Amino acid sequence: DERDNDMDEQRRNAKRSRDVGLVVEHYNARPEVGVRQRRESPIIGLRNFNNWVKSVLITRFAHPALAKATDRGGGRGTKGRGKVLDMGCGKGGDLSKWAKARIREYVGVDIAAVSVAQAKGRYDSLMQNTRPPFAEFATLDCYTKPLTSALPLNILPSSLDHPDVAPFDVVSMQFCMHYAFESIEKARCMLENASRWLRKGGVFVGTIPNAEQLLQRLDALPPDTPSSDLSFGNSVYKIRFENRTSRPLYGHRYWFFLRDAVEDVPEYIVHWDNFVQLAAEYGFYPLYKREFHEVFEEHQEHPEFGPLMERMKVVDKDGESQMDEDQWEAVNIYIAFAM
Ligand code: SAM
Repeated sequence: DERDNDMDEQRRNAKRSRDVGLVVEHYNARPEVGVRQRRESPIIGLRNFNNWVKSVLITRFAHPALAKATDRGGGRGTKGRGKVLDMGCGKGGDLSKWAKARIREYVGVDIAAVSVAQAKGRYDSLMQNTRPPFAEFATLDCYTKPLTSALPLNILPSSLDHPDVAPFDVVSMQFCMHYAFESIEKARCMLENASRWLRKGGVFVGTIPNAEQLLQRLDALPPDTPSSDLSFGNSVYKIRFENRTSRPLYGHRYWFFLRDAVEDVPEYIVHWDNFVQLAAEYGFYPLYKREFHEVFEEHQEHPEFGPLMERMKVVDKDGESQMDEDQWEAVNIYIAFAM
């Protein structure tokens, strides 16, 4: 029996490392195409909208107030130092958003080494035009290893009592936290990394697929749908489940395709209530949770974020959306949250 268990465990581990391999391979293989080619993408409206949602989140949550006068902000004053950890930073697409939000320190980590190198390149070109925040980058599987294994101690103190090194004010995980829900061990490791160096009163912001909506769509498939094609989507995206009845809290896998962006990569459902419960063990409490269309409705008339939509080409100068219906449906798979 023990041997059978060991073999099952080994098979499960092999399947998991194959999935991680697919994710890393996919993101490493996606070339940095430059601004011009990005502008010509068939899903440019969707990309711009996602970037606008992230700008809203980043601007709103970049400088959380200190919880109490006694909390460590890593500096004097009442606002914290403006130090941000971007886990799953990818090619550093959010660097300039954080710079505009006037943070002082940015730390970007990602499992895909090629993306991290491109993020560094982006930082170097940002330095030529503006005075960006101090930045540090590292390649790391943040769901199996502690941040200390890739980041130096002048960035991460060995203990929060370290007098000179500020803790993070914000941890950001954009479009990447769901990969951690392959197993409870990975989800715990991710939460440990997100919470360990975050100051009290600091904020954890992220964007993830909306589990409830994905499962409703799965349930709505006709009963005679073959198990090999448990899928839905449109011309822009496709989601395919492997099973329609089993709903595990971790390792609930589906395959995701997004036109001109993601080619059939394994992803995992994040069951929200379960995530909230687990996150509470790491001191996180929900502050904000919105579907993307709600972020839009909430901020479209906002004096800063409304005009930003035109500048980021989410809408044209007449206020017309730059997304067709299929793109709008695809962006609304996601939710934004803060804890
Ligand atoms: N946050 C970036 C953004 O919003 O542009 C990138 C998002 S991209 C859709 C997902 C990112 O998650 C990829 O860069 C991928 O390499 C990263 N990722 C996946 N698994 C990871 C892990 N175990 N540790 C760190 N990063 C991971």
